[in-house]
Amino acid sequence: MYKVTWDCVSNGVLLVNDANGSNVIAPPRPVFFEELDLLGFNEFWEYPKAQEPLLWAIGRRYYYKGELVAEAKGGNIFEPPEIILIEKGQNLKLEPIDIKKVIEKNKEALFVLENEALDFIEHTYKVYKKKGYLFAVSYSGGKDSQVVLDLVTRVVPCDDLVVIFSDTTMEIPYTYENVEKTKEEYEKRYPGLKFYVAKPPKPMMEFWKEFGPPSRVHRWCCTVAKTAPFIRIIKAIFGKTAGENSKTKLIVFDGIRSEESARRSNYQRLGIEAKHILQINAEVIRDWNTLEVFLYLYYRNLRMNKGYRYGLNRVGCSVCPFASEWSEYIIYSMHSDLIDKYVKILENYINYLGVEDPMKIQEYIIQGQWKKRAGGEGINSNGKHLELISEDGKLVGIIRNTRNSSENFLEWVKVVGDIFYKHSPNNKTEGEIKVSNNTHQFNILKKHKNEVVEIQTANDKVFENKIKRILYKTTYCVNCGACEAECPTNALYVLPSVKIDGNLCTHCGNCLYFVEKGCLVAKSLQMAEGGRNMGKMSRDSKLKGFGRYLTFGLRDDWLSGFLNNPEEWFAENNLGNKQIESMKVWLLDAELITKDKLPTPLAKNIREIYLRHKNLAWELIWANLYYNSPVCRFFIENIEWNEIKSVKEITEMVAELDNTISERTIKSGLSSLFNTFEFSPLGKELKIGIIEKEGRERYVKKLAQTIFTHCRLHTAFIRQQSM
Ligand code: SF4
Ligand code: SF4
Repeated sequence: MYKVTWDCVSNGVLLVNDANGSNVIAPPRPVFFEELDLLGFNEFWEYPKAQEPLLWAIGRRYYYKGELVAEAKGGNIFEPPEIILIEKGQNLKLEPIDIKKVIEKNKEALFVLENEALDFIEHTYKVYKKKGYLFAVSYSGGKDSQVVLDLVTRVVPCDDLVVIFSDTTMEIPYTYENVEKTKEEYEKRYPGLKFYVAKPPKPMMEFWKEFGPPSRVHRWCCTVAKTAPFIRIIKAIFGKTAGENSKTKLIVFDGIRSEESARRSNYQRLGIEAKHILQINAEVIRDWNTLEVFLYLYYRNLRMNKGYRYGLNRVGCSVCPFASEWSEYIIYSMHSDLIDKYVKILENYINYLGVEDPMKIQEYIIQGQWKKRAGGEGINSNGKHLELISEDGKLVGIIRNTRNSSENFLEWVKVVGDIFYKHSPNNKTEGEIKVSNNTHQFNILKKHKNEVVEIQTANDKVFENKIKRILYKTTYCVNCGACEAECPTNALYVLPSVKIDGNLCTHCGNCLYFVEKGCLVAKSLQMAEGGRNMGKMSRDSKLKGFGRYLTFGLRDDWLSGFLNNPEEWFAENNLGNKQIESMKVWLLDAELITKDKLPTPLAKNIREIYLRHKNLAWELIWANLYYNSPVCRFFIENIEWNEIKSVKEITEMVAELDNTISERTIKSGLSSLFNTFEFSPLGKELKIGIIEKEGRERYVKKLAQTIFTHCRLHTAFIRQQSM
């Protein structure tokens, strides 16, 4: 990845290896007349409706010939941001950027990037072709995968390659248009190249009604709309039987970049089994920045999704709990008819929560409160309900208002062992489940719309836990397809109804343990069912907020960017939305910003210290994290000096301390902590947590240090000074 500086004379940008620190800028994106029109710039400036970009933007700040000329502030899904013209931005007459000249000036850098990527693809292809792997490009219709498609098709012969478009059914119309035209072009250019579409089994809007709206906590949408359909289509293309499929391994070339997803930067560029046991993800442009991607589109004359011309930083689902207010406004302005359908579902959900005043409902949407949904309140589960009673070596499940529950139970239970049963008169089914050498009797009694399942568990907790998960599946399954994608042997199909091939099922448990409760819907609805007392956890637990950094760590390069420009950092940085959100929480916990994102006096002190003695600044921050960050405090208080612990071991320790925290939250918190150690001096240099890897497992080693006391004293001193 190159550094970026302005080329002021030509209103361009330069990719450079070395630059004077003060000249380096965050990589900007090109700005087109469509975005200016949408935001109302035509009231202030004159500009042509040109194909070429007119100026550049970093975040929400606009630059012309290297000078800041305007800024967009505020706004929300329904209201435009306010345009603030800077002095240099008064009465501007914009001229289109000479993009040919910009490319000419950056030709060498682009050539280097291009060739490095081509070499990586060729090497990957040669090595894995010999091992019998198959190859696919994951294509989304956005700029990153457009670049990857161009690079990969130039190396991998089309007989060995398929292109898979992940259609979430929630894409913006410009994406569908771009995909269609790209497909036509590539099919002409590379006869024989096959395009496939990976799609959820029904429109996502239907799933929104059944699961409840997705939120930052309940991200079921990514699994249902992307991961599961992708794996399902791979299985459909490359073989259906276990014999064939068990050998089917796939290299998926994708456009994920570490600039947008720090979590991914923890993995090797080849992410072995990072997404699924059958696939290796090859991140072709992992280290490219946004500008390099845009310039490459011009350099190779590739198609650009029109969404970028309207100001979107990235194109994806038209409604997303991680979307910024900026992209919400842009998408709503372009396609209000489409978004209104989702807004209607949100309104019903909010209404179901007990909010009736239309103004308040709108406010709730504007503030994005729905994105914070942690439990199932407000979701109409149509009366579906599971009650579990465990006593005296017996588990009883009372299933209410679920159609075909006994048939579904009898199917799902095959994943645990072999079953034998017979239907008796009076709506009763009796049978037994054989697991290894143990036999468990069960019976199912049907009463009106309810069914009562009674199983002898012999107090075998592992077996009981599996049966509970099966009962959750039986009660709530809406055939979303997520379980099916988890099955490595193709024993499980959930469409059109659940079917398990007992001959293929190896009882591996993947379909039971991939998510809490064994079913994504059950997890999404869990608060409504009173299955777990989340309210108690959030009030009482010392570990409240354990996973609040969304897996991202506090990285040295991010901190240095912030300290360099604390007042402007939130407006001018190059991170993705989730990364910014995570960074905000880290900075709050480190006491470097206020809730309004303004730098605290402590931030100014830390900045001075950081410039002279970086590690000391980090020690002070670590001391503050002890006070404010649940995951850091847990690590300090519970991991012994000189101990080495794996993520798995620490996960169990946390679960023992507080069994109300979900495994996913624990893992997310630990991932943030491990990433902090890995990408800051707290790890290798200060040795508070040294990260080691073995295969896919990460371990942390806490070495004895003496920084603690002096750190706390420093913090106390600086806090005192800052007050
Ligand atoms: S049981 Fe599996 S397929 Fe059915 S809704 Fe739950 S996660 Fe989806
Ligand atoms: S995931 Fe494992 S337990 Fe579930 S159906 Fe497939 S083989 Fe059986």
